[in-house]
Amino acid sequence: MDLTLADVFAAQRAIRGKVVRAPLLPSPFLTQKSGVPFYLKMETMQPTGAFKLRGATNAAENVPAGTTTLTCCSTGNHGRSVAYAARARDFKALICMSSLVPQTKIDGIKALGADIRIVGDSQDEALAECRRLSKEPGVTEISPFDDRFVIAGQGTIGLEILEDLPEIETLLVPLSGGGLAAGVALAAKSIKPSVRVIGLTMDRGAAMHASINADHPVEVPEVPSLADSLGGGIGLDNRCSFRMCRKLLDDVILVSEEEIYRAVQTLYYEDSHIAEGASVVGIAALIAGKLPQQNGAIATILTGRNVDMAEFTKVVTGRDIHLGDLRLKGVPYAA
Ligand SMILES: *Cc1c(COP(=O)(O)O)cnc(C)c1O
Repeated sequence: MDLTLADVFAAQRAIRGKVVRAPLLPSPFLTQKSGVPFYLKMETMQPTGAFKLRGATNAAENVPAGTTTLTCCSTGNHGRSVAYAARARDFKALICMSSLVPQTKIDGIKALGADIRIVGDSQDEALAECRRLSKEPGVTEISPFDDRFVIAGQGTIGLEILEDLPEIETLLVPLSGGGLAAGVALAAKSIKPSVRVIGLTMDRGAAMHASINADHPVEVPEVPSLADSLGGGIGLDNRCSFRMCRKLLDDVILVSEEEIYRAVQTLYYEDSHIAEGASVVGIAALIAGKLPQQNGAIATILTGRNVDMAEFTKVVTGRDIHLGDLRLKGVPYAA
């Protein structure tokens, strides 16, 4: 059955008090830059450093009876959030990852009390192990984006933005597997059908964008990006998030690594916020002049703050960055 606004309201009740109701902050600088009131939804303030805690918490509140253990195969923000949500409900968390994952990420997830299972040399092998585990009694897998409770949980961000700013006209939503965009667009458009919802992602390895264009889920090569949290596929067997994004998004806009670099600097120097590359794709599109003409209030979601500190420091000090084969020429910030 298709998700409805009622599912998002149910998620809002389920996660209340368990996640932060992040403020919607006006940005004077971006307001001046865009010519319309510009707001930032501060999901960087979640205790796990990213909005994914909403979906993971709602999913953890709705697991089948008899569940003792939550599993997933994300090494990033979803893995952290599943570990946190599991602990809050006294479940065990078993996070599967490949041997290529850096130690700092392993340590971050271990610190939340999760067990880690290292399998194989690729994300695919880790996912296969996760699928195998989820067949064992008491183990429930939580998908990072293609799960109705996860999508409804992320959708609570849309409810809160509409509560705080009923005059909102446009929402800029970072887009990867599409759980966030699907949930936010469902909530916002159900309450106010005239709201425009634009998905934003990087121009290299944008799986949802390629899938919408092809009209079915497709695989794209994964390449290193400053917006690393937006990497990865949408699953060739995608059940919910693809259909919802195809139907509900008004547009998908792509930004380059240079534009993301510039946006990280801008947010840091003008608004003093630390955010991941994945968080600033909407700001990148604004600065690059890629957004359509705006006539009313606009908001973007600062989705996470889990930056690689060494890389972040290079960006804000205007130094060069290496992303696999791509060398990004550093440019010091100037307004
Ligand atoms: C997961 C993630 C996204 C994208 O969310 P999807 O539901 O996969 O589209 C954006 N930003 C950050 C920081 C994330 O962790």
